[in-house]
Amino acid sequence: MQIIKLLPENLANQIAAGEVVQRPASVVKELLENAIDAKAGEITLSIKDGGRTLIAVTDNGKGMNAVDAEMSFQRHATSKLSTFNDLFNLSTMGFRGEALASIAAVSHVSLTTQTEEDVTGFSIRIEGGKKKLASETICPKGTHIEVKNLFYNVPARRNFLKSDTVEFHHIEDTFIHVAIAHPEVSFKLLHNEEVHYNLQSTNLKRRITDVLGKNAENRIFPIACETDIVTIEGYIGKPETAKKTRGNQQFYVNTRFFKSSYFNHAIQTAFEGLIPDKTHPIYFIFLTVDPSRIDVNIHPTKTEIKFEEERFIYSILHSTIRESLGKFNLTPSLDFELETAFDLPAGFEKKPVVEPTIKVDPNFNPFQPFEKPKIHQGSSSSDRGVEPKSQNVKPQDWAAFYAINEEPEVPVLMESALSLNLDDLVMVGKYVICSYPNNALLIDTKRAAERVLYDGIIDQFVKQPLHQQMLLFPFEKSINLEEYRAIEENKSILMQLGFNFSLTSERLVIQGVPEIIPENSLDECLNEILTKLAFTTDLKEDLAHILVLTMVKQSVAFFTLKDKTEVFYYVQKLMECKDWTISPSNQKIMLSLPLEKINQLFEKHV
Ligand code: ADP
Ligand code: MG
Repeated sequence: MQIIKLLPENLANQIAAGEVVQRPASVVKELLENAIDAKAGEITLSIKDGGRTLIAVTDNGKGMNAVDAEMSFQRHATSKLSTFNDLFNLSTMGFRGEALASIAAVSHVSLTTQTEEDVTGFSIRIEGGKKKLASETICPKGTHIEVKNLFYNVPARRNFLKSDTVEFHHIEDTFIHVAIAHPEVSFKLLHNEEVHYNLQSTNLKRRITDVLGKNAENRIFPIACETDIVTIEGYIGKPETAKKTRGNQQFYVNTRFFKSSYFNHAIQTAFEGLIPDKTHPIYFIFLTVDPSRIDVNIHPTKTEIKFEEERFIYSILHSTIRESLGKFNLTPSLDFELETAFDLPAGFEKKPVVEPTIKVDPNFNPFQPFEKPKIHQGSSSSDRGVEPKSQNVKPQDWAAFYAINEEPEVPVLMESALSLNLDDLVMVGKYVICSYPNNALLIDTKRAAERVLYDGIIDQFVKQPLHQQMLLFPFEKSINLEEYRAIEENKSILMQLGFNFSLTSERLVIQGVPEIIPENSLDECLNEILTKLAFTTDLKEDLAHILVLTMVKQSVAFFTLKDKTEVFYYVQKLMECKDWTISPSNQKIMLSLPLEKINQLFEKHV
């Protein structure tokens, strides 16, 4: 008996719809992008009830003839891709020919369209993927599409929709992302017949200021940089416009909006010292890269993008912004000399990029007998009762560490044992200095603690929810709509992290918190987490990393390593971590100062 069957087309479309159409805003994104691809100069988006009743888009683009209009609702029907190679050179927004078919499978769609050449237009109605009506009609050039009763046949999805206000908020975000990427196009947005945006065709700067509102013109400055790999342009908010909450932080690549906490970091650090802690600069940044150098195998509804030259772009972005901040006299006292990490040789523009290389010692033999690093416990004994356990430190790691930190002519110190003696540890502020044959080793204890705590928590987190500490009195916090949305969407991960809470659209009531959060920093920690939630891409793994790191940082901020024993505990635990030279926020935990360097220093200062 034959048991394998092909799914009926209709069902296949409904399944695909689950991926492409997650909420009204996803429909908006697809329809707006189609209108852009059709070269429309004017686009109107009209929404009813947060998109659940109606999403309508009118454009004056090139339209479709009768055959194309019918075809456009079939899965894998696209006019934008015909060879495999096209996949790697996409310049249009859509690329899978799946959107219309998916949308029509879960709603009532009607479309009227007319091309320049045809004398009559064409009208078609499709309900739940089934064609109901198709006829000639008279209509203006362009396309008008109405999507009604979204998810009417998928109750689970329909019930999952948030309030109209929340859904409209998502729609507005999507609308703004498309409008900013295409300033030459006029856009209008209406919700329940009320006009929310009416944006005239203009240039990028005006479009940004039209969206940002009054007086915005004087609050942003331009950036631009052209290299072989990436062209960067855009506008950045002056330091004084940095805000406590994130928002108006937008990246686009080849006119497509995307999110990147990695690139965001490049910008945030470029502003370091210029804006108060925990505030975030405004930016609208446009990257242009060869489409074949970004990962096309991304989901159409996802907003992450993988770049081949991610690290290079990071550095360029960082230095371009530093430079502009200097040029526009926003940082009169900025010392570029200190920016060694991002130093690029003069005239780096328009030169091929050379991958950075890591120096390795060609004579290093991992199989050579190596005495395990030992930590000698001195007279004071650890009050935490932890047995010194250092066997996880691999000789290769030390080799790599020294290879990176030493001058090239200094041989890698391998054969001798690494002995850290507790009596030898000297504490200077938050640093520990200890001696290692012919080297002074400097350890940043806060970064060390950050690594130790982070590894411990991640390790636990992947197995089970983190330990929770119930609060004696529930902690209440009023939240805005954005925050409500963010919490609601990430409920499960927050619970896994050890939060116990109840939620209404205006209030968050916390009953239990992860053990690691110090009680006196709960409010601050929550604020941090909320902004991270609202901003971060929705990859669960990334989010876990970011949230755990946020908690660890809060915890470490309150850290005062009081005595040697405690310091010793962290140094020792650090040796057991896999990445023990780099903190989870990518900062060096230790530096070695070779004796030779010390000699040189003294020679210079006779
Ligand atoms: P894709 O955009 O990936 O090609 P869609 O399902 O979104 O797939 O659209 C299918 C096809 O329908 C498009 O390739 C395009 O030819 C046509 N189309 C869709 N919307 C419009 C529009 N507003 N104006 C003109 N043609 C359109
Ligand atoms: Mg499309």
